[in-house]
Amino acid sequence: MIPAAVDYTRPSTVEEAVRALTDEDAKVLAGGQSLIPLLRLRLAAPTVLVDLDGIGDLRGVSDDGDALVIGSMTTHASVLADPLVNRYAPLLAQATATVADRQVRHRGTLGGSLAHADPAGDLPAVAVALDATLEIAGPGGRRTIAAADFFVDYLTTTLEPGEVLVAVHVPKREQWSSHYEKFNRVAQGWALVGVAAAVRRDNGNIAEARVALTNMGATPVRAAAVEAALTGAPASPATVRAAAAHAAEGANPTGDLSASAEYRGHLARVLTERAVIAALGMERPAHAA
Ligand SMILES: Cc1cc2nc3c(=O)[nH]c(=O)nc-3n(C[C@H](O)[C@H](O)[C@H](O)COP(=O)(O)OP(=O)(O)OC[C@H]3O[C@@H](n4cnc5c(N)ncnc54)[C@H](O)[C@@H]3O)c2cc1C
Repeated sequence: MIPAAVDYTRPSTVEEAVRALTDEDAKVLAGGQSLIPLLRLRLAAPTVLVDLDGIGDLRGVSDDGDALVIGSMTTHASVLADPLVNRYAPLLAQATATVADRQVRHRGTLGGSLAHADPAGDLPAVAVALDATLEIAGPGGRRTIAAADFFVDYLTTTLEPGEVLVAVHVPKREQWSSHYEKFNRVAQGWALVGVAAAVRRDNGNIAEARVALTNMGATPVRAAAVEAALTGAPASPATVRAAAAHAAEGANPTGDLSASAEYRGHLARVLTERAVIAALGMERPAHAA
């Protein structure tokens, strides 16, 4: 379908963008990979599109000491190619490599993926697992919010009308190892379920663990019971298998044409075992699913 007529503006600073968004029905345009299809289907009908593409400050990755600062308009392809991301946040690079196809990755942005908050999107769970902080600009100035508090419901975040997601601050985790495991239909990249796992080993034990699930609810789900079972335990396949059995606890997946809620629960357990085993650098035992 052809989208309805809409005004278009292309600011060159964040402040100009925030001013342009004072129009009640204005909407931010980033890579357009999710928004343009919605406009074409007329499921969204903004009066004005505020295109962030001309704001150079929103692109790129910088080293802020303890954290990486990734501009919201940094494309998936740029995230993937970035040496800082690959060194200090390899979980993000690994998950980004599974997003869609080359074409979408060259247009779609990290900020757009987080702001869109699709439960099947891979990067919200990664942001939660990495304990990222989101920097937001609005009419009242700038604020920050933990990724864990940013996602509130299906396609819904704490972003208020008039606000722009500016950057994603990702703590460096040099002592940690990580893995993103995802199960998807062959024809599409969208996750039926995904698991973002990050672990820190101390000698033979798992000192800390963070595990977040994609598409196991309206928002990314922190697998708290898995994390509790892993923390302080010996890094062995048996420990991981027992911990992964708790992966679906507290989750609320939906059923759809591709997978029932029960099947998603099964996937969460299987993929959590795989993701944590891989993050620990261990071989999957022969009995593993
Ligand atoms: C064929 C296809 C397959 C895909 N497969 C996957 C997949 O396997 N995994 C996956 O994770 N994703 C997938 N995607 C989605 C892709 O990652 C998109 O890039 C992403 O959802 C949206 O990013 P965008 O930059 O295109 O945002 P846009 O489409 O421009 O915007 C999306 C929404 O976010 C808002 N927004 C965007 N940026 C900001 C900002 N900085 N501040 C405030 N609001 C903002 C917009 O107003 C809009 O509501 C797929 C997309 C397509 C088309």
